[in-house]
Amino acid sequence: MPNCLDYARFLSRAAARRQPSAIREATQLFARSPPSTISFASGSPNASLFPFKEATITLKDDTTIQLDSSAMAKALQYLPTPGQADLLEWLRKLQIRYHSPIDFKRYELCVTNGSMEGLSKVFELLLNTTEPILVDSPCYSGSLDFLRGFGANIISVNTDSNGMNAEYLNNILSNWSDSNTLPRVLYTIPNGSNPTGASMSHERKKDIYTIAQKYNLLIIEDDPYYFLQFKKPDPSFLSMDTDGRVIRLDSMSKVLSAGMRLGFLTAPIPLWQKLVYHQQVTSMHASSLSQMVALKLLEKWGLSGFHQHTEQISKFYENQKVLMVNAIKKHLNGI
Ligand code: PLP
Repeated sequence: MPNCLDYARFLSRAAARRQPSAIREATQLFARSPPSTISFASGSPNASLFPFKEATITLKDDTTIQLDSSAMAKALQYLPTPGQADLLEWLRKLQIRYHSPIDFKRYELCVTNGSMEGLSKVFELLLNTTEPILVDSPCYSGSLDFLRGFGANIISVNTDSNGMNAEYLNNILSNWSDSNTLPRVLYTIPNGSNPTGASMSHERKKDIYTIAQKYNLLIIEDDPYYFLQFKKPDPSFLSMDTDGRVIRLDSMSKVLSAGMRLGFLTAPIPLWQKLVYHQQVTSMHASSLSQMVALKLLEKWGLSGFHQHTEQISKFYENQKVLMVNAIKKHLNGI
């Protein structure tokens, strides 16, 4: 059995206080009940009164996906907070296919309205205001804007062409003046970092993970560019997580569409549970309609179709890169 962390140590005061929302737990129960069940628990509207009946969506290859009336009724109704069960199952298979986590039983998934929503929830899960968080420097401005507004103490860790510099990280932590205020959280974008484009090598990730073990840090792996890489990305932090110290955020924004607002997070169960409690009383769940459209598409494609699609995307961006580099060489040479 791998190491077991004391997760209470990582929770913010707000997260530690969070309890299940009775009404959202009832929705979960209702979703698992026979179709004949009539629930008086939550204010679920009668789906037969919604003006939408069914939908056919034509894909770029001119095939279609169909939301018949029963799929449509589901797509318009409240969902259990972590997400549509079949979609979650599909995404679990996706994580196994790409990351083969060492002990996947200790993680759960939650679908989010894009990974930015997931990130904001994760930051609030782990930080109290004024507490430190280690981040890549330079770092994704969306996360920085959230953290500044939140009042976190942002500790910038230099990066190089391999991403976060492990030696620099080690120096910051070993020279920290007060062991009681040591950071507990590290946030990084391991592939195609925004804004530098740098990707972490496997060796670098191993070094960072070892430092995270030494100083008992949680790692937030924000990886929306995973599927856009020109060559197969090196193993993720999730895939090397022996201790359950990684929260991974994936996004469908660059792969299926940004406007669907679909992302998903993968977290050790004790942390996932607190995130779900937060989600229960904020957005309640990610858009049911987006989840249903994504599910129908992913079921039609299967994992191999999804993979093929991502290969086309990375090829497209690789060609764009070549065009841009050539244009720079031609027009900006000598400037
Ligand atoms: N994280 C990083 C590093 C990003 O660059 C972005 C968006 O560009 C996001 C998160 C947010 O993605 P989403 O559209 O899934 O919310």
